[in-house]
This record gives sequence, structure tokens and C-alpha cells, in this order.
Amino acid sequence: VTKNPQQPEVNIGLVGHVDHGKTTLVQALSGSWTDQHSEEMKRGISIRLGYADATFRQIPGVDAPECYTVEEETEDGTETDVLRTVSFVDAPGHETLMATMLSGAAIMDGAVLLVSATEEVPQAQTAEHLMALDIIGIENIVIAQNKVDLVDRERAIENYEQIQEFVKGTVAEDAPIVPISAQQEVNLDVLIEAIENEIPTPERDESEDSRMFVARSFDINRPGTTWDGLMGGVIGGSVVAGKLEDGEELELRPGREVEEEGQTEWRSITTEIRSLQAGGNMVDEVRPGGLCGVGTGLDPSVTKGDALAGQVAGKPGTLPPTREQFTMDVELLDRVVGSEDDSVDEISTGEPLMLTVGTATTVGAVTSARSGEAEVKLKRPVCAAEGAKIAINRRVGARWRLIGIGTLK
Ligand code: GDP
Ligand code: MG
Repeated sequence: VTKNPQQPEVNIGLVGHVDHGKTTLVQALSGSWTDQHSEEMKRGISIRLGYADATFRQIPGVDAPECYTVEEETEDGTETDVLRTVSFVDAPGHETLMATMLSGAAIMDGAVLLVSATEEVPQAQTAEHLMALDIIGIENIVIAQNKVDLVDRERAIENYEQIQEFVKGTVAEDAPIVPISAQQEVNLDVLIEAIENEIPTPERDESEDSRMFVARSFDINRPGTTWDGLMGGVIGGSVVAGKLEDGEELELRPGREVEEEGQTEWRSITTEIRSLQAGGNMVDEVRPGGLCGVGTGLDPSVTKGDALAGQVAGKPGTLPPTREQFTMDVELLDRVVGSEDDSVDEISTGEPLMLTVGTATTVGAVTSARSGEAEVKLKRPVCAAEGAKIAINRRVGARWRLIGIGTLK
């Protein structure tokens, strides 16, 4: 039983085709989704990445799976025990931009893939999202076959078999498939059981250097606030290693662009942590899982309008280097994601690519391309360690399409 049920300890991506029920499922599991996120800072981060926390509970003395619930009390008034709080990242399935999904994937410990029983399998984003999980290396997956209330038994079985066929040979091959109705709240206990079994909270090492991926940054002051009432800039995102503590020094990279004697260069920013928020509460420290807001000593003009989104924060002197160019090993997909017949051509020198590294998305021009390797020069630098995974997107027609995955050398 978790001591602090409020602070989520694991991030679970919720992926799948538009209208297959992702938002409905998050609402069914997190109940007070809107209340929980009423604070401005939290709401801002939530909308951008679509986060919601849910606390899984167990009814004492009841067998699995019937014991699993999100209710604090059963209908007859029995209090339930807290198992753990999880944070769902609701992938924006309606958006065609894979990068948003992938930058969310950088902080996912596992995923629930939602597939509607009312449609043929796979729909475009079902395939896209599964491929993204595959290449990002998210292995802890539960498949929820949703909307079973809308189909008859025969159709449900046929659809179930289509799902099995579709995931063969992918990272989701052995994932359990749980038929549910998110809207009618049917079989959610079985789904929670599957999540508890398949998506464990990863082992965390608190002594590791702290690292936070910044997804948003903003100015929380109302217009017209005078200097003496001004609050420092706020950054929002996810801690991925170690822990952040109130009062500590914090470094941000790449930081900001400074111009001196006609030369521009990127310099990291150092500040202090003045407040921490996680799971909707003010806290003294934040560990990996869910999202957090960090009040800093920075001038709010530095953080406003997501100016620091995509940066990396941590203890000064421990962050990976800032890179304005890098070489990556490249693994191309067989086909352009989301298309039936477009095979992926080799990367060529001079072409622009959109690269997602952690929560950072930047455009890079290929300065040298060889088979299995490419050198890129970035428009905006990124802070990334050797071995970091990079989602590689190419412009195909009107949009950027995922064509492969890179590993930073
Ligand atoms: P998303 O695009 O994946 O986030 O899908 P939504 O959660 O917005 O759901 C799309 C539509 O399907 C909404 O009108 C929901 O009410 C409906 N829906 C979602 N889950 C179920 C379900 O289990 N059964 C039925 N009948 N409708 C559902
Ligand atoms: Mg939705």
C-alpha cells in the first residue's frame, strides 16, 4: 500500500486511434479529472500533454479481479486500500503530428493501447502509435478492446482475433487484450488488474543525478503585477531520474541564446527551486512519475510562452552536453508510418528532418548521410546524452511523417 497516494509513481501512455475512447477511459479511471486539474499551472501542463492521475485501489477481502477499483468506498460503505497512483498521458490522437506523441513517449513507462471493437483493425493511428511504442522501446503494454457494449458477441470475437493478428511480431505480441466499455464502466477491474501486472513501477535510484524533461514553461503572474508581487518563472514536466528537492540549485540546458560582439552562443541557465508541485499538492521533493511544476527564481520573462519547453533540468554540472550538431545511427522503417505503400528512401545530404529528442523537437539539416548514419546541424540545439533515442521525421506532402529512429553517437 502506497504511503503517499497523491504522488503518481508511474507514467502510462494512453494511445490509439481517434474516437476509440482514450479520453473517456481516462475520465472513468481518474474520476475527478477536471477538479484535480483546476489549478492553473497544472491545467496548463495537462492540456499540453493531456495528463491525468488515477489512484488504483483494492477492496479488502475480495478476490481478484473484482477487488480492483478506483472508488474510495464500495457501495456498502467499505473503505478501499490504495495500491498506487498512476499518471495517464493521453496521446493526442487527433493530431497528425507524431512528434507530440513521441515526446510523450519519452516519459512513458508503459502504455495502454485502446482499440475500438466497432471498427476494422488496424485504423491508421492504431498502427502509427503501436509502431511508435515499438521503436521507442516501450514494452509494457496492455491492449484494451473498447466499446464492446456496441457490438454483439460474434463481432467482439472477430475483432479480438483481428487485434491478435495485428500485434503478431510487434512489441505488443504478448500483451493481454482486455475487452471493456469505458463509457459503461464494464470490466475496468480486469483492466486495472492487467495494468498492475504488466506495467509495474520501475525501480528508481534516488541517488542518481536528478533529471527533468521540461514540457512546458510559463509566467503565472497576472498582467499588471508589480515587481514586489512578482512570482518567479515556472517550468512543468517530468522527473525521469533521481529526485528534485525544494531549495536546491537547478541548471537548465540548452538554456538561452546570448549575443555578444556579434557572436551568438547557447548558455545554460542556473537558478534555484523555490517551490515544487506534484500530484496537485505542494511538496518538498519530487521523484519520477506524473508531472510536476517547479517554481524557480527565474525572471518570468525567461519562462513565458513555453520558451524553455524541450529543455533538460538537473543538478548543476551533471547535465548532458548541449549539441548544435550531432551524428546518429539511423534505423529506417520499412514503410512510412500511416501509409500503405510509401517505402522509406535513404536519408540524403541537405534534406531537412524534424527530430524529437526527449521533449525537444527541432529541425535539423543533414550535413552528411551515409548508410545507417547521419550527421545533422540543428536549428535549435538540444541537451542529450550519448545513446539518446531520436524520432526522425521527414516531410512527406503536407506533414511530417515518422521514418525512423536514431541513436545519438
Ligand atoms: P478519443 O478520441 O480516443 O479520446 O475518444 P473519446 O474518449 O473522445 O470517445 C469518442 C466517443 O466514443 C465519445 O462519444 C465517447 O462517449 C464514445 N465512447 C468511448 N468509449 C465508449 C464505450 O466504451 N462505449 C460506447 N458506447 N461509447 C464510447
Ligand atoms: Mg481524446
